[in-house]
Amino acid sequence: MGYDVNRFQGDVDEELICSICSGVLEEPVQVPICEHAFCSACILEWLNHQATCPVDRQSITSSQLLKPVPRILKNLLSRLTINCTNANFGCGSFVKLDVLNQHLSECEHNPRRPVHCELGCGLIIPLDEVGQHNCVRELHGIIQSQGDQIQDLKEQVQDFQRQIVELKQQVTVVTDIMQSFRMSANNLSLVSPRRNFVDTTDEVQQWLLALPPARVTRWGGMISTPDAVLQAVIRRSLADSGCPQYILDDLMENAHERRWSQGLSTLETRQMNRRRYEQYLARRIPGKQAVVVMACENRHMGEFMVMEPGIVMIFAHGIE
Ligand SMILES: [Zn+2]
Ligand SMILES: [Zn+2]
Ligand SMILES: [Zn+2]
Ligand SMILES: [Zn+2]
Repeated sequence: MGYDVNRFQGDVDEELICSICSGVLEEPVQVPICEHAFCSACILEWLNHQATCPVDRQSITSSQLLKPVPRILKNLLSRLTINCTNANFGCGSFVKLDVLNQHLSECEHNPRRPVHCELGCGLIIPLDEVGQHNCVRELHGIIQSQGDQIQDLKEQVQDFQRQIVELKQQVTVVTDIMQSFRMSANNLSLVSPRRNFVDTTDEVQQWLLALPPARVTRWGGMISTPDAVLQAVIRRSLADSGCPQYILDDLMENAHERRWSQGLSTLETRQMNRRRYEQYLARRIPGKQAVVVMACENRHMGEFMVMEPGIVMIFAHGIE
C-alpha cells in the first residue's frame, strides 16, 4: 500500500504513483514484460485474483517473476520529502523518503515508543499503553509467568531425578554382574595356584628327583588296606626321604583305597585298569616295598587314575 500523495511536499511525478492504490510507490517492483511499476504489496494482492497487468491487461505467467525497479526510479523516490507518519500525534518533521523508517524509530511522537513507567514498577512499556498501565497487574502477571517457569523447571528436575534413579539401578545391575564374575575368577584362582604350587614347588621337585625311580613287577602284590602300623612305618621312611611336611599327611592318607580315585577305588576297576599301571611313573620309598605316584608326574594318566598330591602304594613284594 503506497504513501498518501498529500503527505509529500511539492508535486509528485505521475511515474511514481501506483495505479492500483493511487499512492506513491512503496517497495516498488515491476512487471518484466511491460515494465509497469507497482507497490509490491499491491501487485501481489492483484495477482492473487487475476494474472494480468493492471495497466495494460497483458497476461502475466508465473515464469515472469516480478523484478526490482530500475535504480533511477528508486533515486527519484528517495528524493521525495514526506511528513512524519506520526504527524497526527504532534510530529512536525518532514524527511526524505529513504530515511523515513530511521526517523520513525527515533520519533518521540511515535505512540509505540518504549518508555519507562514512572509509577514505580520500573517496567518499559509502549507509550500508547501508559494510560491503561497498572503496575500491580503487570507485576502480578510477571510473577505468575515466573511461577509457571519455576513449575516447569521443577518438573524437569523431577525428570532428571527419575533418570538418575534408573541409571543407579542399571549401575547396581552391572556391579552385581561384575561382582559375580570376580567371584568366579577368585574361585578359579583358589584352585589353580594350589595345583601349580604342588606342581612347581622346588621343595617337592628336589625331593622327588632324589628318590630313585621304581619298577613294580607284581601289581597284584599291592596292599590296598594297609593297617596303622604298616602306614606308620612307611610314613617314617617317607619323612626320612625328605618328603615336604605339608604333603606328607595327604600322601599317607592316600595310601588306603578308601581315598583312591575312581580308576583305582575297587578291586574290580583295578583289575580292569591293570594294563595301564605300567604307564605310572613311580618312585621308590627307600628301603620299603612301597612307591609314591605323584600327581605332578602323572598328568598323562588323567584324573581318573591319579590323586592330589599323589598316592602311596604299598606292596607285599614285587618292587625293584
Ligand atoms: Zn500501490
Ligand atoms: Zn503493464
Ligand atoms: Zn516524527
Ligand atoms: Zn508501572
